[in-house]
Amino acid sequence: MPLGAYRITALLDGMAPLGRPFFFGPDEGAIDAKLAEMGLGPDLLPAPVTAYLLRSDDRTILIDAGMGEVDLLGPGFGRVAAALGAAGVAPGDVDTVILTHAHPDHLGGLVADGAVVFANAELVMAEAEAGFWLDAGMMAQAPTEAQGLFQLAQTVVEAYSDRVTRVADGAEVAPGVRLILSPGHTPGHAVLRIDGGDRQLLMLADTLHSADLHTAMPDVGFGFDVDPAAAAHSRRRLFEEAASDGVLIAGSHVHFPGFGRIQRAGDAFRYAPASWL
Ligand SMILES: [Zn+2]
Repeated sequence: MPLGAYRITALLDGMAPLGRPFFFGPDEGAIDAKLAEMGLGPDLLPAPVTAYLLRSDDRTILIDAGMGEVDLLGPGFGRVAAALGAAGVAPGDVDTVILTHAHPDHLGGLVADGAVVFANAELVMAEAEAGFWLDAGMMAQAPTEAQGLFQLAQTVVEAYSDRVTRVADGAEVAPGVRLILSPGHTPGHAVLRIDGGDRQLLMLADTLHSADLHTAMPDVGFGFDVDPAAAAHSRRRLFEEAASDGVLIAGSHVHFPGFGRIQRAGDAFRYAPASWL
């Protein structure tokens, strides 16, 4: 998708076998009714895991890196490396990796066999996100099933330790690329506002886990949300912004390749896919 000075390319890492149990509250019956109204059965919610390549004449930026070798949601992941190759980019060509948040399907692909994959890249992430996952006290308070998430985030950030840049809310992390905190899914979850000159794009990362359901019912929680209420608040704020500005959006788990627009629909929203060009 051309964005003026940039061109953004969707890289499919794999398909997450999401289904109805990943989504919850505040009104379970209303969720079922909405899915039926949209023609979506309980098994019809699989979501892609998508990373994005952002290129200009002098920058090669990777936005998230997919699951890599991590076995969290079954087989079939770790295709970002091959997708990059198909786009004509070698791992050593990537100058910057911007991490939207430190979940395995976004950072797993940063390491392979314990070694860094993107040997020449600076790793950029929100200070609030790094601070949470690298905090021994937070890890100690987290439930047993979340310990692996902390360990993986720490392993990856340590591997890139001399090249990690932690940034504040609103930081310009590349020319025309601004990182905006949208806490909830994780404490330092961030979206990217990309201004390529001709066109703007809001990369919403994990604001949506079902483009259809989350636009229709922005308050629906998702299983991996650290703070579902905060995530819903961030979701509504970002949907308002995307609808008001009419900007293109992209998402990590929006129907591949993930480019579209958010439109107002009553007191909620609707997702409208964009053509690829
Ligand atoms: Zn995700």
